[in-house]
Amino acid sequence: MIKVSNLTKVYKSKKKDKCIALDNVSFTLDDKGFVFIIGKSGSGKTTLLGLIGGLDSITSGDVSVNGHSLSMYKNNDYVNYRNSMIGYIFQDFHLIDELTIFDNIAISLQLQDIEDRDKILGALKDVGLEGYENRYPKELSGGEKQRVAIARALVKDPSIILADEPTGNLDSKTTTQILDLLKKLSKTRLVMIVSHNLNDARDYADRILELSYGKVINDYIRNPEYSDEVSIVDDELFIPVHKKFSSSEVERINESLSQGKIKKIKQLDNIFIPNNLKEIEIKEFKKSRKNPHISLKNIFRLSRKFIKKDLLRLFVYSFIVSCLVVILGLCELIVTFDSSKVIEKELMNVNQKSVALNKTDVSDENVNVNKSCIINVTEDDIQAFYDNGYEGNIYNLVNLTLDYGSKTSLAHSHIINKFNPNDVYYNGTRGTLITTEEYIEDTFGQFKCSYVADKIEDGGIYITDYSADAIRFYSPTIFPTPESILGHHKSMNRNVYAYINGIIETGYKEKYQTLMDSMLDVDMTKEELLELASSKEYREYYDDIIRNLSISYTTNPNFIDDLIELNTRTWTPVGNSVFVYNGGTYPISGYAENALTRSILNLKDNEIVMSHTLYNSIFDTNYSSTTLDQFTPHEVTFNYSYYYDLDRTNVVYSKTVKIASIKAPILYFSDNLYKELLRINTFTSELYFDDISEVSSIFEVGEEHGLTANSVIALSLMTMTKAVGVFSDFFSIIFIGLCSCSLFIIANYGIKLIKERKYEIGILKALGTRNIDLTLVFGFQIVLLMILIVAMYLVGSFVFIDFSNDVLIRSLIELAPNDFMLDIDVLFINKDHLIMNSCLVVLIVIFSFIIPIVNLRKLKPTNIIKAKE
Ligand code: ADP
Ligand code: MG
Repeated sequence: MIKVSNLTKVYKSKKKDKCIALDNVSFTLDDKGFVFIIGKSGSGKTTLLGLIGGLDSITSGDVSVNGHSLSMYKNNDYVNYRNSMIGYIFQDFHLIDELTIFDNIAISLQLQDIEDRDKILGALKDVGLEGYENRYPKELSGGEKQRVAIARALVKDPSIILADEPTGNLDSKTTTQILDLLKKLSKTRLVMIVSHNLNDARDYADRILELSYGKVINDYIRNPEYSDEVSIVDDELFIPVHKKFSSSEVERINESLSQGKIKKIKQLDNIFIPNNLKEIEIKEFKKSRKNPHISLKNIFRLSRKFIKKDLLRLFVYSFIVSCLVVILGLCELIVTFDSSKVIEKELMNVNQKSVALNKTDVSDENVNVNKSCIINVTEDDIQAFYDNGYEGNIYNLVNLTLDYGSKTSLAHSHIINKFNPNDVYYNGTRGTLITTEEYIEDTFGQFKCSYVADKIEDGGIYITDYSADAIRFYSPTIFPTPESILGHHKSMNRNVYAYINGIIETGYKEKYQTLMDSMLDVDMTKEELLELASSKEYREYYDDIIRNLSISYTTNPNFIDDLIELNTRTWTPVGNSVFVYNGGTYPISGYAENALTRSILNLKDNEIVMSHTLYNSIFDTNYSSTTLDQFTPHEVTFNYSYYYDLDRTNVVYSKTVKIASIKAPILYFSDNLYKELLRINTFTSELYFDDISEVSSIFEVGEEHGLTANSVIALSLMTMTKAVGVFSDFFSIIFIGLCSCSLFIIANYGIKLIKERKYEIGILKALGTRNIDLTLVFGFQIVLLMILIVAMYLVGSFVFIDFSNDVLIRSLIELAPNDFMLDIDVLFINKDHLIMNSCLVVLIVIFSFIIPIVNLRKLKPTNIIKAKE
């Protein structure tokens, strides 16, 4: 049944020297009987048993069992063979410490998908360990453990029992009991036993194989003719070896001796005779088709036992890794930080649905810019936003402002020191926004006018109820009622007249009344005022005024044309202009800075009238106001620069004009010249963007073009979020570092886990556990590890994110151009990130376990068990 042919096993040790443990061994074994393998220590007994049991790989030669060659076995065939055919009893018992005696034995059955309590208890009884089932291996003596190991092999009723010195640790009584049991079993199956005890061999063996230096040096079978009888033939007494004489035999020998019949005594030692039998005929057996596996429930139980012993480490590792992942998550938030989203969210929070940029604070080295002046935005500036992919509307705020405060200082200065509680109202409008009804509705929740003029002008404007209240605040006697403001031509600072079509209801009082009341509270101390001025409420109020409340609105796209048409009588400033004549440049000094008026005379196109003083300076004449009749109507060039361009580097308007007459004291321009100048002076000072989904790119393009946010909140947000983005690369490195760290730590855990369980794995493998089941035993631990890490990570993220945000904001606030607190969320929980990082954890864990698990699959049971010995 078992044919061992030319079996050789060579161990290669690490130092490359070989050890031939079995050397070309051949023999056959019947499918029943009690075979003893004897030999000196190191002669290859264990190796032989291991090879027959399928625990180790064969170097050369073959073991064929029931006609199936082990060397042809695939991994699963080995497993099947081990757990269904072989009952292996190890020299050192090899019990699993975490399992009770019962469970240690049960595994053997579980591998064949059998749950049979009685069978297990029966096996325990067979080895004399009744009632030991609930103990743990640690609570047993060596002999008792050996018996459990025997029970584990016997319980599954294997057709081959391989026992490696199973009685080495047992007392003689138990030894007899076990050997009797094995002997009984050998009637129906093959029992191979490695033993040192020759007496046992003699008493029990059906066959003895003696090994020496890896070779079979003797092969004996029990002599069928041998009889254990004392016999006397002629004068010879034949006594069997180790004979225990019965009293009748003693009597008979004594009698013969006394009669002097016995001359010679001969000891019979031919109990065994050399095995000269021909090879046993090998019958074909079908390969076992069973696919033995442990039920999930039992795998789980085993796994649980393993985990229980390892709980602390599991927690410590999960905790460390989850901490890393939390930090990794934070890095990720910073790396993938989208300032647009944060700014948009925060602006929405304070109900700013648009951003506005202006050039007010630009200072250019080439252009001598007055810091607080308004500078025009060019068509190129606007185009740049569209070129950069901006998709929303851009509205132009033109510099047509109403002045209604007598005060020259700006109210609501965001420089706290200048904060004046009387400046509750802004003292003018900041410009006129050429916009749409939708925009106004978006801004104020409605486009509803509480007061509307009787007659609506295309060149007219809508002011807010806040502006209307401000006008009445500064000029209560001129404007006693809101109605009195309507239609009234208020002077705008570009020196055109404004016609007020209506007053928009903004609901500003509901929002800010309490704040405004406290600002008006005269009893407030300076400290309280400072505190108020740096409060978030005040900043929101201030922002709202700057951006929405203190500007006027028009929905007429041709507003400027219509307005200029409407304005027939006014003056416009030319203080920074020059006349050029014959190579000479003549500033319009001596006149008031804004000393150009529109003609009240009947001037033709391109005609002007100037005073004799200016005329004399240009033409080197000597006219007086009384000698006008000698006047020559010269042509001169008029060069106009913006008022802030003090060096007149950029001439924005140049025209050859004809001096029609001389008249004191100021300049007079013809109608066409006046309107052309008025148009140049009416420029866009600010841009309003109604799509803030890509607000950072708006800010970026704006910055390139010298445009900054006029909202304190937006400006602060922009500065702060920009700072976050700066560290993106730095945090990418940390991110990768943390990923590697986690990988390393988990891999370390995995390798350790499996390394420390190598012994148990070896036993389970030797018992015939499939690799997949072994993987599953650790799979549960891996899954538990994943769950723990992910759970701790999720909890940690939620706890940590607020904390980190606070820390980050506290640092960022230092960068904000204003010293008030913005309680913004720079970092916030990102669902996608949570899912992604959890998957990352799962991946890292799986990846980290791949190597140890692959190693585990490759390990040979004997190697592993040896490792422990
Ligand atoms: P026995 O059981 O008869 O005492 P073994 O079969 O255990 O002997 O060992 C036979 C020989 O092979 C010994 O010389 C032993 O040192 C060697 N040997 C056994 N296992 C290994 C191994 N895993 N690696 C290297 N040498 C081994
Ligand atoms: Mg041995």
